[in-house]
Amino acid sequence: MSTPSSSAVVLGASMSGLLAARVLSDHVGRVTIVERDTLPDAAEPRRGVPQAAHAHGLLASGYRLLDGFFPGMMDELEGLGAPRGDVVGDFLWFLFGRWKCRHDTGIRGMTVSRPCLEAAVRRRVKALPSVTFLERTDGLSPRYDARARRVVGLDVRSRDDDARDTVEADVVVDASGRGSRAPKWLAEWGYGPPEESLVKVDVGYATRTFERRPGDFFDTLGGVISGTPPTGTRLAAVLAAEGNRWVVTLAGVLGDHPPTAEPEWLAFAASLPVPAVRDLVTSTRPLTDTATYRFPANQRRRYERMHPFPDGFLVLGDAACSFNPIYGQGMSVAAQEARALDDALAGGLEGLTRRFYDLAGPLIDVPWLIATGEDLRFPAVEGHRSPASRVMNRYFERVHAVASADRVVCRRFFEVLSLLEPPSVMMSPGILRRVLVRRPPDGQGSPWPLEP
Ligand SMILES: Cc1cc2nc3c(=O)[nH]c(=O)nc-3n(C[C@H](O)[C@H](O)[C@H](O)COP(=O)(O)OP(=O)(O)OC[C@H]3O[C@@H](n4cnc5c(N)ncnc54)[C@H](O)[C@@H]3O)c2cc1C
Repeated sequence: MSTPSSSAVVLGASMSGLLAARVLSDHVGRVTIVERDTLPDAAEPRRGVPQAAHAHGLLASGYRLLDGFFPGMMDELEGLGAPRGDVVGDFLWFLFGRWKCRHDTGIRGMTVSRPCLEAAVRRRVKALPSVTFLERTDGLSPRYDARARRVVGLDVRSRDDDARDTVEADVVVDASGRGSRAPKWLAEWGYGPPEESLVKVDVGYATRTFERRPGDFFDTLGGVISGTPPTGTRLAAVLAAEGNRWVVTLAGVLGDHPPTAEPEWLAFAASLPVPAVRDLVTSTRPLTDTATYRFPANQRRRYERMHPFPDGFLVLGDAACSFNPIYGQGMSVAAQEARALDDALAGGLEGLTRRFYDLAGPLIDVPWLIATGEDLRFPAVEGHRSPASRVMNRYFERVHAVASADRVVCRRFFEVLSLLEPPSVMMSPGILRRVLVRRPPDGQGSPWPLEP
């Protein structure tokens, strides 16, 4: 049900804010996006998204949703040089001591730098007639009407002349990222802060970009090479990007951070369990210096559990839940939340908040379970481990082993990792039988594709 006389304001013009604005524009008459940065037309890094220098994998679920929100955008990105391919057949996955079997699964994806993807999404959102951008503007605080128990707009301040204003709106979306002040505002309005879950991982990233030539990296579009918990704290994510480049991110959890100086960075690459990344980075030309990033903890704020909650106020994206980035989930979860917002808006603005959180809570449960479940394999990561989770960990170790040769198990596993299917599909009778009965092959498997 669309309500043309109504309006929305979105705080933050990164991936979550842009996608929220995209779906809001189908339901309300006017959408204003408030962003503190100057937003470049080109695919350039900007201050508010410092993570953009690092490998940003778009999971297949996110790829499909973006393709639906912005018809033709993926073709446009491909035209700019972002390669498309099969998430298993065109990538290298070395996980739990084995190569996953490379074969065509039909799960399609794209690799593209984060600035290029965000710029493409921004261009599309800017072209929507009902959307206005307020750049170089700080969102100060939502306006709260205590009598009506709802938000009615957002107070803002221009970075150019310090002028203050209020953007009146029926819906206020907080997509301001991990540093969101929503818990403080909710406490001030008398609702108290949300319950917060933290799973500390202390991840460090160090990323360089390299020239990409045909045939590099086993003729793939990238891959993930990871150590095995509890001792293997190091990993690398390699992604092809537009402009014939490789974005190569080295990462380490629990304080085992990659250094920035070249010899030590290369030594870190060489310390990974297989030499594919070392071979790549020592055989091609670096194009940039090393950029770093530190990520302390998975952080989830459970707004869906707050009853009551002010009407018209929505918190989404990293502001609600930020995941250990090594699992590459954030942008795809932002897209799933935008889809949930679209569904919630179909029922009109009355009761929107409750409908949204009823959808968003279970949606976030899955990537949260995957990210924190993997992190909790490291004994030094604090958190609750149920007996069931220990059994599941052992089962998934077996999945990893079998998926090095069994195409059916491998495909299913990547559907789960791509957030296309829930983890429960790995417990279907057919998959259980293959995982438990089949004897995994000896050795590490191969980075080369299987025979068709
Ligand atoms: C190192 C790293 C690597 C990552 N890798 C991946 C990956 O491989 N795949 C993936 O899917 N995700 C990845 N992510 C996560 C991904 O970057 C985020 O999930 C995604 O950007 C969505 O975040 P967001 O839009 O909610 O918030 P953010 O990206 O943090 O954006 C918040 C926006 O709000 C603006 N803002 C904040 N406060 C104000 C204010 N008061 N007034 C005005 N504007 C404001 C900021 O300038 C910014 O533009 C990674 C994250 C990190 C840190």
